[in-house]
Amino acid sequence: MAAIPFPTNQVLIGGSWRDAAGGETLPLINPSDGALLAQIARGTAADIDAAVAAAQAALDGEWGRLTAAERGRLLARLSARVIDAADELARLEALDVGKPVKQGKADALALARYLEFYAGAADKVHGATIPFADGYTALTLREPHGVTGHIVPWNYPMQIIGRSVGAALAMGNACVLKPAEEACLTALAFGRLAQDAGLPPGALNIVPGLGEEAGAALSAHPGVAHLSFTGSVAVGRLVQAAAARNTIPVTLELGGKSPQLVFADADLDAALPFLVNAGIQNAGQTCSAASRILVERGVFDEVVARMAERYRGLRIGPALDDPDVGPLISARQRELVLGYLGVARDSGLGLVAQATLPATLPAGGCYVAPTLLAPVAPDHRLAQEEIFGPVQVVIPFDGEAEALGIANGTLFGLVAGVWTRDGARQFRLARGLKCGQVFINNYGAGGGIELPFGGVKQSGHGREKGFEALYGFSTLKTVAIRHG
Ligand code: NAD
Repeated sequence: MAAIPFPTNQVLIGGSWRDAAGGETLPLINPSDGALLAQIARGTAADIDAAVAAAQAALDGEWGRLTAAERGRLLARLSARVIDAADELARLEALDVGKPVKQGKADALALARYLEFYAGAADKVHGATIPFADGYTALTLREPHGVTGHIVPWNYPMQIIGRSVGAALAMGNACVLKPAEEACLTALAFGRLAQDAGLPPGALNIVPGLGEEAGAALSAHPGVAHLSFTGSVAVGRLVQAAAARNTIPVTLELGGKSPQLVFADADLDAALPFLVNAGIQNAGQTCSAASRILVERGVFDEVVARMAERYRGLRIGPALDDPDVGPLISARQRELVLGYLGVARDSGLGLVAQATLPATLPAGGCYVAPTLLAPVAPDHRLAQEEIFGPVQVVIPFDGEAEALGIANGTLFGLVAGVWTRDGARQFRLARGLKCGQVFINNYGAGGGIELPFGGVKQSGHGREKGFEALYGFSTLKTVAIRHG
């Protein structure tokens, strides 16, 4: 696949690429070696103003006049373009995010699958007719919000664009996308692919820039009718506060401290790959990372020993070498994670296994050795706070009630996994766990594009993915006609 021809250092507004209004750029760093990768546009409030105006013009123009079926057809065409470009997108993600190539390819194909799913769903969302008073016909209409703002983090740009922009476009909104300043190449490449697929100008506008500049301007913009934010709890609060000032709805997909619960009757052979992969995938920089593994005491030693064996075998390296674990996104993120490992050391946590960093790693890379800690008390800082690195803690428990208490005992509630052969327990825990998704005898359901996703508590609110997202990206209008 040839390179996707897009300018890395410009914004995409109203169908044309241009320099940021302020004329400034920001450096993009390759986390595998610390080298300067590209310059990206430093979008500011003026660019957000222009992008919102272009989105509104698209709604008032060609894009707004398309039928749902026509929007679906465009998304299907875009999905096919993404599939054709998947290898190139994976390469860009490796350079930009430090994501191993195989994982980046999976993200690109997930993006294509989101577009395919929402392409098929675009003309299948409709309102209802409602039995009402004599002489009336009452009905509901599903309508787009208007201009939707999408603020995206650096860890899974393609997947998050797929699930939020894909659903918003399917419902007929026009989008302003603010990718993360640490990684936005695949977002920009996606903009180019959307143009090539024939998306009308202004339906998708992309403004890279700093969070406190472009991101804050987008969240506060009075022309935006709905905000979808994926990122940290701290910034999510700011975005929700900004949305409140304009009284617009906001979807918040925030952090997590997700557990997997392993009972003594579980099929451990089946569980083991999920236990470790869900902790180290994307170097642990995953909102739904299973960063807490809760294990029933009878099998605790066995599970820890088998996880440790996997940790010791992990290959760490530059993302383009397609290792098991690549670098973290930035030197800052690396320092944060090393800080947590320092806390672990100072509080005497048992370090069960640590992968070995090869001596050949580029000196400027942001690598952290994947680390397994056990046993860890459920109220320890490392069992409570989101570390966002390749670090898992293993917590022993006695019986179902204690497991449930520990699992629910954090400020987060995103995802949980349960490993047990006991059917009644599966149902009890599915109901008892306070989170947005529960996986029984699996974790993540292979991406689960069709499955609604989102959190409770500080993991956020609102749902993306699956059909449910289409309700979030639309509003319901009631019409009551008195005809006698
Ligand atoms: P972050 O909150 O720092 O940044 C996310 C986005 O918000 C970026 O685009 C950034 O530029 C923007 N931003 C920063 N300050 C802003 C402001 N004042 N106003 C508006 N926008 C602003 O998060 P991060 O460190 O990039 O990402 C990691 C976090 O994201 C983790 O907590 C992780 O759990 C979470 N996350 C959640 C999900 C999910 O679906 N629940 C998925 C991926 C990541």
